[in-house]
Amino acid sequence: TFSLGPKITHWDLQRKSWLLQNPQYPNHVNGKARILLLTGSQPRPCDNPIGDHYLLKSIKNKIDYCRLHGIEIVYNMAHLDKDLAGYWAKLPMIRRLMLSHPEVQWIWWMDSDAFFTDMLFQLPLSKYHDYNLVLHGYPDLLFDQKSWIAVNTGSFLLRNCQWSLDLLDDWAPMGPKGPVREEAGKVLTANLKGRPAFEADDQSALIYLLLSKKDRWMGKTFLENSYYLHGYWAGLVDRYEEMMEKYHPGLGDERWPFVTHFVGCKPCGSYGDYPVERCLGSMERAFNFADNQVLKLYGFRHRGLLSPKIKRIRNETSTPLEFVDQFDIRRHSSTLR
Ligand code: UDP
Ligand code: MN
Repeated sequence: TFSLGPKITHWDLQRKSWLLQNPQYPNHVNGKARILLLTGSQPRPCDNPIGDHYLLKSIKNKIDYCRLHGIEIVYNMAHLDKDLAGYWAKLPMIRRLMLSHPEVQWIWWMDSDAFFTDMLFQLPLSKYHDYNLVLHGYPDLLFDQKSWIAVNTGSFLLRNCQWSLDLLDDWAPMGPKGPVREEAGKVLTANLKGRPAFEADDQSALIYLLLSKKDRWMGKTFLENSYYLHGYWAGLVDRYEEMMEKYHPGLGDERWPFVTHFVGCKPCGSYGDYPVERCLGSMERAFNFADNQVLKLYGFRHRGLLSPKIKRIRNETSTPLEFVDQFDIRRHSSTLR
C-alpha cells in the first residue's frame, strides 16, 4: 500500500529535544510561533501563457503579506512523489517541510489561486492552541450535509507534530494517480453531497476522513468560519469598492475578506468552471485591491482595481523618518485604514 515515507514515531519528543539542542533555531520568534507559508504550482509553464503572469502576481501578493507579518515562505514546483502529482502535491511537501524544519511550528498551505486581500489581518493563533489542523469550514455542512465543500483545503494550517504526520499518512492513500485515484473518486462522489464524478481530490478525501473517522481526527481539528481563511471569490470580488467605501482592512471577514480564493478558475490551463476572462478580470481586481494596501505604505495606489497604473497619494518629504512609523503596518495595525 501507498506511503509517504518511513513511518515516523515520537516526533513530538524528537522535535522537542532537537529544539533544546538548537537554540539558534527557536520555534518562537519575538513571542510569535514560527509559521512557514507553503504554496506552489505545477513544474511546467502554463498552457495559457497569461496564467504564468497571474502565478507571478499571486506569489508577489503572498511575499508582501508574509514580509509584513514575519512569516517565512516556500514556493514548491516539484512533485516530490510522482504518484502525488497535481493538487495532491501539497501532502508530501508539507510532510517534508515539517521534518526538515523542526523549528517551524505551523505549516500554512495556500493555493496558487488564492490571494491575500486583507494585508492587515493576522491569524488568531491563540485560538488554535489546542488544535493541530485549522480549516475554513462549517460543522453543519460537514456533519449534517456531508457536503464536498464543507471545508476548503486551499488555505489551511497544520501544526508540526506527530498528530499531523499521522493525519498525512491517513490522508494520502486516495492520492496515487491512476486507478487508485480514479476508484477513490467514485467512493467520494458516492458519499459526499454535491460532488461531481471525477478522480479523488485532496479536499474531498480529507472531508471523507473527517466524517468516517470523526473520533480520530475531529478532536484536534478547528473549523474556522469567523473570518475568511478561505473566501470563495464569486461573492466577494464585485464588492471590493463597497468594502473600501464602508470598511477598512484588518477585519478579515465578509466586510474585508482575508483571503479571496479563485475556486473553479483555471487561468493556467485545462478547462475551469468559469470563463477565463471573468477569472482573470476578477483576479486582477483581487490583486490590485490587496496591492493598494501595500502601496499605501509607500505612498501610492492603483488608479482603479483593473489598472496596473498607480498614482501618488502623499507628497514626498525631505524628512522621511519623521513619518516612517506612521506608515509601518508592523508597528501600528491601524495605518492601512
Ligand atoms: N499545485 C501544485 N503542483 C501542481 C498542481 C497544483 O503545487 O502540480 C497546487 C497549486 O497551488 C494549486 C493547488 O495545488 O492552486 C490546487 O490545485 P488545482 O489548481 O488543480 O486545484 P484548484 O486550486 O483549482 O482547486
Ligand atoms: Mn484553489
